[in-house]
Amino acid sequence: MGIEILLSVLALATSDPTRSSEVVGYSSQGRAIRVHRLGDPASPNKVLVVGCIHGNEDAGVAITRKLVRKTPPASFDLWVVNVVNPDGRRLGVRQNGRGVDLNRNFGSEWIPIGTRWDPEYSGPYPWSEPETRTVRRLVRRIQPDITIWYHQPQTLVRAWGQSRPMARRYAQLTRMVYRSIRWPHGTAPNWQNHRFPGTSSFVVELAPGSLSDRRAARHAYAVMRLARTLVAAAA
Ligand SMILES: [Zn+2]
Repeated sequence: MGIEILLSVLALATSDPTRSSEVVGYSSQGRAIRVHRLGDPASPNKVLVVGCIHGNEDAGVAITRKLVRKTPPASFDLWVVNVVNPDGRRLGVRQNGRGVDLNRNFGSEWIPIGTRWDPEYSGPYPWSEPETRTVRRLVRRIQPDITIWYHQPQTLVRAWGQSRPMARRYAQLTRMVYRSIRWPHGTAPNWQNHRFPGTSSFVVELAPGSLSDRRAARHAYAVMRLARTLVAAAA
């Protein structure tokens, strides 16, 4: 009887079209990279949020965990990755498990930087890392209108090019400082902004240390508000 109840609960949980999660790739050391999806899968309004790409800058995970627990939005499709660099996070380092700065490894304005375990080591060639290839696959599949990347510790919202208006709006919603700063070589926003015209991909640099529960809630709220501006613009 217990098993039957458990199975029916599981069936209900897995059949909920407004909430799902799946493994979309594996790190170089074999750790799963999981994406959570909430909201209306059929909505043309897509938002992707990544809590941690530099392993020692993981305050954003407090925000993404809150997002995953929210009531699924009716009017947009929200995709959330808590950690895209699980090896680096486990090791407490910026780079991935083999010493590559993932956010210098994307194939847009990529240049060779440094050597293994240097803070900004770009990898031997663009897309050399399984984590960046996982992001490439995921972004191509979702084609998000907005992508938010959490980093630390500069305590500002930074964007360039077409992503500036959305980033500025996010800064207002979170009462953070906004700066227009050119993308570094080989970063995720650099690639997304060049590859997907008309979409926004920007960086939120959180303060050093961990985020208070109140601040995390504020950021999660800002993500939802920003996503709703897409819906309003499309209407
Ligand atoms: Zn960073």
